[in-house]
Amino acid sequence: MNPAHARPPGRLAVVGAGWAGLAAAVEAVDAGWAVTLFDMAGQPGGRARSTAQDGLELDNGQHILIGAYRDTLALMRHVGVAPETVLHRQPLALVPPAGGGLRLPAGPALPAFLRGVLGWRELSWRARLALLGRAARWRLSGFRCPPHWSVERLCAGLPREAFEALIDPLCVAALNTPAHQASAQVLLTVLRDALFGPPGSADLLLPTRPLQQLLPTPALHWLHQQGARWCPGHRVHRLAPQEHGWQVDGEDYDAVVLACSAVEAGRLLADLAPDWSAQALAMDYQPIVTVWLSQPGARWPEAMMALPASPNAATAPAQFGFDLGQLGGPSGTFALVISGAARWVAQGREATVAAVRQQLSQAFADTPWPWNDATASLQAVRTEKRATFACTPGLQRPAPTPLPRLAVAGDHVAGPYPATLEGAVRSGIAAVRHLSSQEGR
Ligand SMILES: Cc1cc2nc3c(=O)[nH]c(=O)nc-3n(C[C@H](O)[C@H](O)[C@H](O)COP(=O)(O)OP(=O)(O)OC[C@H]3O[C@@H](n4cnc5c(N)ncnc54)[C@H](O)[C@@H]3O)c2cc1C
Repeated sequence: MNPAHARPPGRLAVVGAGWAGLAAAVEAVDAGWAVTLFDMAGQPGGRARSTAQDGLELDNGQHILIGAYRDTLALMRHVGVAPETVLHRQPLALVPPAGGGLRLPAGPALPAFLRGVLGWRELSWRARLALLGRAARWRLSGFRCPPHWSVERLCAGLPREAFEALIDPLCVAALNTPAHQASAQVLLTVLRDALFGPPGSADLLLPTRPLQQLLPTPALHWLHQQGARWCPGHRVHRLAPQEHGWQVDGEDYDAVVLACSAVEAGRLLADLAPDWSAQALAMDYQPIVTVWLSQPGARWPEAMMALPASPNAATAPAQFGFDLGQLGGPSGTFALVISGAARWVAQGREATVAAVRQQLSQAFADTPWPWNDATASLQAVRTEKRATFACTPGLQRPAPTPLPRLAVAGDHVAGPYPATLEGAVRSGIAAVRHLSSQEGR
């Protein structure tokens, strides 16, 4: 008999059933904990959830995964989801409506990047060579730079066209923070793991099913089968330390994983770990707005298109557009994503939708796929004001282990990645491994 299973299981409370909490709960069940999973919402998934609206199953915002999301893909498999059945995999391509753009061929990362950049016809040779030279320099430096550098500082001297065509869109897509405010070190880490990782790391994995089916629902089903307890609609109000564990809203547990938002974790730990709480509550956020439009019969040449920017995104809000008809959704439906969207949140929903419509009309004019705005209709708009933390240079993120027998998980916890599904999943797994090692599990 496995000695770990010979002793009674410890009781573990996981507060929050976003992707971090789900990862923690699954890891904990595997390690022999008796798990109770709380969420204040009625369903799991947190910010990466989907809900029905007017007969459409809409994600909380269009999400992209990449091949480097090692632990997320492993977790999906573990709970019975074959990633290839719910994700469309394609080599990284940043293709504008007018055609051309960057397309990485399949195969090992370095030659793929080299060939992709060299074949990028719209960039001048000077810009292409400068990009390759800069990438080589980053690689030689081990993808490290001074922590206080912004992405703009990192790219000083790079021709503007290279910066605008590649670095800016990658930065805002990965860090949800404009380049002049974004952490260069975090972007370098993403580039190292995606563009220069094992073959396939940079591949785009575009959901072909609602987010709920990628992980939240199957993970909850798996947890249920393993005997874990699920408490939806329960907002945890109080944590009280005990001699050998914690009381969570009056119930006894041996350990706790706090996988809720930084704001809620800061509230719950305000008296117990005041410094930690102050740091968590001081985090700044960046919004993301997603606009869904439908135009019957329309189809784009690619499932995902890079939309041309205007200076400072002043008139053209969306960086990327998705043809959901090519991704398992209703045909003629398009999701337009505005990351780093503070300017547009301030301008309001109507102005934002009008600007997106105009952006599409202009971007697709003179292409074989013109956007006929007269026949397009608005399906939905979702604004997440606190979509992700602002990933700024030198940001001190809250530590994962503020107190004995209590670990914190979530995309905001200290770590090398920006706020992503993979960062959330890895933090959930790490939190449970820490508690298990303390308990000798
Ligand atoms: C619009 C949008 C687009 C995005 N696009 C991408 C993308 O393309 N790729 C990518 O990798 N990432 C993307 N992200 C980021 C990604 O969604 C997050 O990094 C990830 O979902 C965070 O998961 P989490 O578990 O850390 O936190 P959350 O999802 O916020 O989960 C926290 C959970 O805790 C619960 N909770 C809070 N307080 C309590 C309490 N007191 N008691 C009980 N429950 C509580 C909440 O209800 C919630 O379910 C995007 C995010 C948004 C909003």
